[in-house]
Amino acid sequence: MATRRSTRLFTRAQQILPGGVDSPVRAFKSVGATPLFIARASGATLEDVDGNRYIDYVMSWGPLIHGHAPKGLLKVLKAAADRGTSYGAPSPLEVELGEKVRRLMPGLQRVRFVSSGTEAAMSAVRVARAATRREKIIKFEGCYHGHADGFLVQAGSGALTLGVPTSPGVTRGAANDTLIASYNDLDSVERLFNANRSEIAALIVEPIAGNMGLVPPADGFLRGLRELCDAHGAMLVFDEVISGFRVGPGGAQGWARVQPDLTCLGKIIGGGLPVGAYGGRAELMSLVAPAGPVYQAGTLSGNPLAMTAGLWCLDNLKPALYKQLSGLTTQLAGGLAEAARDAGVPVQINAFGSLLTPFFTRQPVRDYGSATGADTGAYGRFFRAMLARGVYLPPSQFEAWFLSAAHTKRDIDRTIAAARLAFRAARGHEEGG
Ligand SMILES: *Cc1c(COP(=O)(O)O)cnc(C)c1O
Repeated sequence: MATRRSTRLFTRAQQILPGGVDSPVRAFKSVGATPLFIARASGATLEDVDGNRYIDYVMSWGPLIHGHAPKGLLKVLKAAADRGTSYGAPSPLEVELGEKVRRLMPGLQRVRFVSSGTEAAMSAVRVARAATRREKIIKFEGCYHGHADGFLVQAGSGALTLGVPTSPGVTRGAANDTLIASYNDLDSVERLFNANRSEIAALIVEPIAGNMGLVPPADGFLRGLRELCDAHGAMLVFDEVISGFRVGPGGAQGWARVQPDLTCLGKIIGGGLPVGAYGGRAELMSLVAPAGPVYQAGTLSGNPLAMTAGLWCLDNLKPALYKQLSGLTTQLAGGLAEAARDAGVPVQINAFGSLLTPFFTRQPVRDYGSATGADTGAYGRFFRAMLARGVYLPPSQFEAWFLSAAHTKRDIDRTIAAARLAFRAARGHEEGG
């Protein structure tokens, strides 16, 4: 497969963009490859600048539940662009999308639109701190909530030690306010609450974790978090930037029947344009300016093109779509498991709705520790062998694969056929192709 143009572009890109990309995982570093530059995409297919075509399982990291460039979306976007690309003033579209979100997720009595998931998560935490007049937050090891300072933190030597920054440039002050618990481990959360009585403003969690690879919540985990937050007067924040509208129209909160105080949205809510949102109970959200004193603003917030894409995207979430997606995901998970078994490669496949991650490990994966036990070298070999056979996977063991309405049974069959060979390549010896 010729990738001359991509290679040349990557060389040029590295002279102007740090690492040659605008978001780190795109650089293909952890899979030992160089990135492909994309010329166009449609349905479930990516085409690179050298004219190679791939079945795409990244799907822009989650927003594209209806596939790339669906015709209906293009039509409404073109019409919207004719009416102007940004007003810096209210438009009816924001009201419509807000009401639509509330119909799907009734816990969001009030919604504020922003331009990214990062903004949504950092703003929701600001509201929780204002509401509780407390400063500390609890997050889980392996959960990602965007790149705001206070989220770029890992536990030190034990779960009870103060957080230390994971990134240079994050102050110890910001890190000290973030406490780290273990996913699917309610005891680790309770210990933090007990050791920091009346100090915890919020607990933020991906109710279905997608940023250490896919790790679904254990039975009773989310309900247990609700109870612990209630017992300790802390706000429960669900970061549904991936799970919102992905696991069902009501998100993970609808599926689990657990009501958070605040919810963060992104990805699908923008249908491939830059949108995030946060919302929750009216009395909490009334703290947000200009209704209240908590400042948060955005030049392009509620952008008419982004709102148009979000409305089209949510309007087209039908029960049949979720059925189709979970059917395809089950087919893919089953086929991958069988192909791995036949190749003698130990793989654990976590799947939920239209999300899936094959972990190259013998151990069940239920938290960060078990996820990071996976063999990233084997994943890299698998990734490169799949790419050579026209299948574009997340360039990291610790990311979820995303299916869309545009994927067909035939795409899944082709993917499984490619995986039969790629699992053999993953065993250690590179094979050509
Ligand atoms: C992607 C993601 C974010 C960050 O969203 P951006 O739009 O990339 O800023 C936050 N939380 C979760 C769970 C995500 O998956």
